Amino acid sequence: KSFADFGLAPELIEACQQLKFTKPTPIQAEAIPWGLKGKDLIGLAQTGSGKTAAFAIPILQELWEARTPYFACVLSPTRELAYQIKETFDALGSGMACKTVCIVGGVGMMDQARDLMKKPHIIVATPGRLLDHLEHTKGFSLKALKYLVLDEADRLLELEFGPALDRILELVPKKRRTFLFSATMTSKVAKLQRASLEDPVRCAV
Ligand code: AMP
Repeated sequence: KSFADFGLAPELIEACQQLKFTKPTPIQAEAIPWGLKGKDLIGLAQTGSGKTAAFAIPILQELWEARTPYFACVLSPTRELAYQIKETFDALGSGMACKTVCIVGGVGMMDQARDLMKKPHIIVATPGRLLDHLEHTKGFSLKALKYLVLDEADRLLELEFGPALDRILELVPKKRRTFLFSATMTSKVAKLQRASLEDPVRCAV
């Protein structure tokens, strides 16, 4: 199997080639076809497995067709991981003018508010700071959101982001797609899964 076999946009296939992604990793081979079919996903995979591209590729494929602002939001437990995820979206989305912003703590709210007003397609955020903007930044909402990704869900919950996640789930559309990725399936992750995903496909490697 190659990336071309997934029926991806030429811009995405080319980006994979430029990144030297010759063959999908096991989590990509399992998750991408389901993601492209419109299913909610649970991905049980470690960092280093290629999990970021496993959720980024189906999102970018649909963005290529739809092109609407605030298309997807990826929630990350840490700033460092958020910046890495943004880099993956930038690299994979380079041929399709995909605009991505990182919304994390430690950076001025005003600068971030300005970035959000530029109507990015993808928002990669830590939950606390995203919630700050949802509650305080005038003119910003995620009412048009099509995809929510909960990355490293076990760590999100270990870091006590549970209450912020519950609140964010109230502020995004019910009708959306959700991908949850986690290294481990704990009882807390299972509870978050039940609260946020609909009839998901489980992909484990
Ligand atoms: P991740 O698990 O998403 O943090 O990815 C780990 C590393 O694997 C990153 O440096 C990616 O650029 C790389 N990677 C992801 N998918 C592939 C692939 N299909 N072929 C080669 N490298 C990949």
